[in-house]
Amino acid sequence: MHSVAATARWTAAARAKESRREDAIFTDPYAERLAGREGATLFARYDNPGVGEFIAIRTRYLDDLIRRGGFGQVVLLAAGMDTRSVRLPWPPGTVLYEVDQPDLLEEKDKRLADLGARHACDRRAVGADLTGDWPAALRAAGWDPSAPTLWVAEGLLFYLPEPAARLLLERVAQAAAPGSVLAGDLLSHQSMISEFSKEGLRRLTEDGCPWLFGTDEPEEFLSGCGWRVTELRMPGEEGASYGRWPWNPPLPREARGFPQNFLFVAARDFVARDFVAAGD
Ligand code: SAM
Repeated sequence: MHSVAATARWTAAARAKESRREDAIFTDPYAERLAGREGATLFARYDNPGVGEFIAIRTRYLDDLIRRGGFGQVVLLAAGMDTRSVRLPWPPGTVLYEVDQPDLLEEKDKRLADLGARHACDRRAVGADLTGDWPAALRAAGWDPSAPTLWVAEGLLFYLPEPAARLLLERVAQAAAPGSVLAGDLLSHQSMISEFSKEGLRRLTEDGCPWLFGTDEPEEFLSGCGWRVTELRMPGEEGASYGRWPWNPPLPREARGFPQNFLFVAARDFVARDFVAAGD
């Protein structure tokens, strides 16, 4: 299993921490056990002001989007130790595909089974490399390319080199039926170069899972991959704060030298997609 898998336990530890709060903005009763001691250690190792808070905000933001529903198929690209299949209410008939490294998904399934967790939707594990032929694996698991899909790329894109992140999102755009939506998060380029993220990034690099890509132009990046941004939020902004963000008001987007993240929702952009396809 690639060392980036450990980051799934780190983010599970962040969800466990949020879940312990009396005023928790979501509750993940399985997070602590899925994170294990390794997750708790990594959470402490990578801790920096705003990091745990951002993971909690991101979880709730995407929970809300998924809860709004409207999709018979949802694909979690790099599901990690995510437990939405168990903890969210799902409309009957929803199929949830979780794509991640096979060993990680096997280990998660084993831990969830030990905890007696039951999926609240038709959840299908898809062990595949997201830089490889994951669409074939998804189809083999029953995913219907002709039906609209909600795609979620949460805590993933910055662990891929930029060309791989682009290729992944282009391939999602090419595979997605009309009406499909992509949501997730991106790291700013400022986060890659800021003094304030230097130590955290050094530790991630030392552990074999460095951030590899960030952009200060998320709309442009996504549009180039075939996706038109319909909503963009930075943590702390209205609709992406939930009372968690430590800085009020949040830094303006134009601020330089500070780590920043983007939460986005995007629709498939036919013009950009056709352009991408024509350039193949
Ligand atoms: N989405 C989950 C969350 O927010 O808790 C997991 C995020 S975790 C920070 C990053 C995940 O990306 C890990 O589970 C790792 O296995 C997965 N990942 C990274 N590169 C991958 C690749 N090339 N193929 C499949 N999974 C990958």
